[in-house]
Amino acid sequence: MQHTVQKSVSLSGVGLHSGAETILTIKPADVSSGLRFVRVDVSDKNNVIPAKWDHVVDTRLCTVVANKDGVSVGTIEHLMAALAACGVDNAVIELDGPEVPIMDGSSEPFIEAILDGGLKTQTAPRRAIKILKAVEVRDGDKVAVLKPGIGSRYKIEIDFPHKEIGRQSAEIDMFGGDFIGQISDARTFGFLHEVNALRAMGLALGGSLENAIVLDTDSIMNPEGLRAPNEFARHKVLDAVGDLYIAGGPIVGHFEAVKPGHNMNNLVLRALFDQPDAWTYVDLYMDHTPEQVSAGYVAPVVPMRAVASAS
Ligand SMILES: [Zn+2]
Repeated sequence: MQHTVQKSVSLSGVGLHSGAETILTIKPADVSSGLRFVRVDVSDKNNVIPAKWDHVVDTRLCTVVANKDGVSVGTIEHLMAALAACGVDNAVIELDGPEVPIMDGSSEPFIEAILDGGLKTQTAPRRAIKILKAVEVRDGDKVAVLKPGIGSRYKIEIDFPHKEIGRQSAEIDMFGGDFIGQISDARTFGFLHEVNALRAMGLALGGSLENAIVLDTDSIMNPEGLRAPNEFARHKVLDAVGDLYIAGGPIVGHFEAVKPGHNMNNLVLRALFDQPDAWTYVDLYMDHTPEQVSAGYVAPVVPMRAVASAS
């Protein structure tokens, strides 16, 4: 069934790019209303921005959504991944600035806040997007594919010419509850020379070793090191889960990508929705027959911890 949050939960922190301190509040929302941002600091224009794939206006450094009035919210991807992991279908997300706080650079602080507040079960089944036909986008050596398959799998391979990263991969099934614990705490990362160039352009102003892994020419600058040997690939899975959740629901099928980024993640959704015969909506219930499971309707889509706190 669909879920919203049981009660409002708030977090605050700096934006990675703006450096501005913002307060984010996740509030309960009506059944089948989806995920929407409300910019509470904007009163002279429409301040509601749907968190949907067709509202994405920029993917160069992070995923930015905007409405027709040009009111935008940036760096939504780690929050969207947290909402996907917790199975939140409907929420109003209030924000008093242009960028979601970066927190520790992962999804963990958002997940903790959502699960602390608890989830509320709603009266309609979850609506998922089932992939019927493979859709692929390419850009040089970057590839992103959505294809039919059981579960909601994400598999990513990256290859950076840096000795601390190199070639690495990560793979999960969202319907297997793999996200929390395996992917949720993987932090965003950047290279020192890029961070310096971004700062010179007035970007990455909130970035620090507190909210990102930073690499210099040949080492990791964070004194605490990595949270997992393949934390970089894990974070790319986290980004993809967040970027694809704004399809409007969970994906039933397999996402596979080589060297993806926010742009490829959004382009593959646009390619999918351009082809009406490549996908269909399906309802997800918590209690599936074996026939439904083999047809791609997969069992628990909300982590057990969250289900327990919802009652
Ligand atoms: Zn990220």
